Amino acid sequence: MVYCGAMPVGFGYDIHRLVPGRRLVLGGVEIPHSAGLLGHSDGDALLHAVVDAVLGAAGRGDIGRIFPDSDASTEGMSSSVFLERVMAAVRPAWAVGNADVTVVAEEPRLAPYMDEIRRRLEGLLGTERVNVKAKTGNGLGPRDAIACYAVVELTAGGR
Ligand code: MG
Repeated sequence: MVYCGAMPVGFGYDIHRLVPGRRLVLGGVEIPHSAGLLGHSDGDALLHAVVDAVLGAAGRGDIGRIFPDSDASTEGMSSSVFLERVMAAVRPAWAVGNADVTVVAEEPRLAPYMDEIRRRLEGLLGTERVNVKAKTGNGLGPRDAIACYAVVELTAGGR
């Protein structure tokens, strides 16, 4: 695929409910907490948002089309596998130029885990140009969920 002009940018968003008794996995990193994200896979809303941002930039649809909840083979699967598969599909035509992610959670406090999540994303995306931000909702929520927003810029592959 020959792409002329500005490099494509994709946006991704996801939100998953926090429920007691599940592991909390965000950005492929397990975070100690009394509740985890509900989902067909491991519920990793951060990686789901990044997957959708990559797919958006590449013009390849969305995560639900590629990994539907009805697929028993992905039940309980690590969402890192989703991102690995999507990156494998967009390479070698594309590489990630940069990624910027915002996580919105009232709890737990995510600051201690931001560096580990960023390094994990850098590995999955094959770039060191990754930024991850954590915010609370300033008391406005979501209170029983974690929401994530991601922007990914692709650049010509083969680097
Ligand atoms: Mg999701």
